[in-house]
This record gives sequence, structure tokens and C-alpha cells, in this order.
Amino acid sequence: MKMIEIKNLSVKYKNFYALRNISFDIEAGDIVGIAGQSGSGKTTLLKAISQIEKGYDGEVKLNIKKPIQFVFQDPSSSLDPRMRIYEIVAESLLIKKTIKRDEVIDEVKETLNRVGLNSDLIFKYPFEISGGQKQRVAIARAIITKPELLICDEPISSLDISISAQILNLLKDLSDEYKFTLIFVSHDISSIYYLTKKVIILYRGEMMEWGDTQKIINRPVHPYTKLLISSILSTEKKPDETEIEINERETSSKCAFSSLCPFITDECINFNEEIKMVEDDHYIRCIKSNL
Ligand code: ADP
Ligand code: MG
Repeated sequence: MKMIEIKNLSVKYKNFYALRNISFDIEAGDIVGIAGQSGSGKTTLLKAISQIEKGYDGEVKLNIKKPIQFVFQDPSSSLDPRMRIYEIVAESLLIKKTIKRDEVIDEVKETLNRVGLNSDLIFKYPFEISGGQKQRVAIARAIITKPELLICDEPISSLDISISAQILNLLKDLSDEYKFTLIFVSHDISSIYYLTKKVIILYRGEMMEWGDTQKIINRPVHPYTKLLISSILSTEKKPDETEIEINERETSSKCAFSSLCPFITDECINFNEEIKMVEDDHYIRCIKSNL
């Protein structure tokens, strides 16, 4: 069943497109990564999907009954500092007036345990727990609703490496257990590789390469994805910290990557948003015939 259908989505800010010509579907139960450097439009895409941002052109269709749940990059700012862990996690239950307090407490404790937290934390405030614990609380707050769709926007980017790995494992376990659809945004290709089944590689608001995560990261075909992956492998830096060392040039190609592409040829002038199927569930937007 298709949960999300996006057709020709574009978001324009004053003088530039934050997103352009985005089209893809997400099936219920998919684990989808969205990867790309800082400023490539990842958060803008999530805002359009979740209808937080409605000033877009194109079509976003959602086939979902429950509210979308979110986990953000910085748990310190996404958790209300005046609320105890109990209230934060229970908020969606407390709205229903019929449920008894004892039952809510039991369910919160159980959910805290499920995300690897001791239920003793229940009456603490966010400032009394660590960054990793806060992110687990944010995840508990989301999964207590038994979500159909969980959207995580750079959920591990503010955490230490060892804590990031734990949170990544937790998301993987929870998605196996609860079977929610997961959209996981990261500029870190290795966590996308570990967690997701499908991936969309964005560059300056456009889809460069998309499809099966294993195929794309093991055998990238689009020049941007190749460069992104090789620059990370050779420097062990995150894409955000990686300078892609090619001078930008003026081109008359419509391809978003043409001003930096090391493989540009005369052929690229004729680029007109072509989508090429590389293999089953693996697509690129590139005109070159000899990739
Ligand atoms: P990412 O999440 O990949 O880092 P964003 O989606 O946040 O990227 O931003 C994409 C581009 O759009 C960036 O260049 C950003 O500066 C710009 N942008 C984001 N929000 C706005 C806004 N409300 N007004 C103008 N420009 C914006
Ligand atoms: Mg972002």
C-alpha cells in the first residue's frame, strides 16, 4: 500500500528553489533515508511531506490515519524543559480523558523500558538526564502513540559516536517490532546504509539518485553520489565537513550538479530532467550515456 505519493514537488524561496521536481512514493513499512549535504533541502522535504510547509507546488498525498510522529536533531530543544519525563512521554495519552493515571504510568514505564531507559526516570526533568537519554525519551514519546509514520530529522547528529550507534540500533529494533514507516534524514551515509532499505540522494533540492540503499551505496552511478561517497571514504569526514574540491563553473545545462560535475561533457547541455533506470529499484537523474 502506498503511504506517501509525491509528484513534481517544488518549493521556491524568493530567488531559488529549495526543492525542485521531487517525485517518489513510499510504501507502508518502508525505511527510507534522505541523504545530502547541509542545505540540500532535506528538512524542507520533510516539512512538505508532513504538511507543516504548505507553500509548495506539486502534489503530496498521504494515506495515513494517525498523526505523524517526529524525532528531531536536538533533543534538548525538542523536549519541554518544564515538563517531567512522564508528562512528555504521556502527552498523547493524557489528551484522552478516559484513561486512568495508573494505566498511563504503567504504559509510560513500559515504553521507557522499551527504549532502553530505566523507568525510575519517569519523574525527572529533561535537564537531569543525558543527551542520549533525552533522545530516547523523544523516541518513547513518539512510539507510545503506535505511529504509522515516524520521521527522524538528523536524530543522531548532535550525539557522540557511541551514543549515535545505540540510537541507530534502537530505531532499527523498534522499526522491526512496531513496523512503522520510517523516514530517516541524515548527512551521514554510513548510518543511512545501516538503517534504511531505500534512499534518496538530494543535491541542491533535486533528486540525483534514488532506490535500493544497498545498490546505491555499493555501486553509486550518478557523479554526485560517487563523489559524495568517495569523499567520505577517503577522508572519513561527514559530508557536511567535506569540501568537494572542484571549482564551480557556469554551465548552460539544466542539471543541478553540472556546475561541479567532474564528468560534464557537451552531451549535458541537452539534459532535460531525464530519469534513467540503472537496474531494478535504482534510478538516476543524469543524461550521460556512458556512466
Ligand atoms: P537541509 O535540511 O538539507 O540542511 P533545508 O531544507 O533546511 O536543508 O534548506 C534548504 C535550503 O533552503 C537552504 O539553502 C536553506 O537556507 C533554505 N531555506 C530553508 N528554509 C527557508 C526559508 N524559510 N526561507 C528561505 N530559505 C530557506
Ligand atoms: Mg535539515
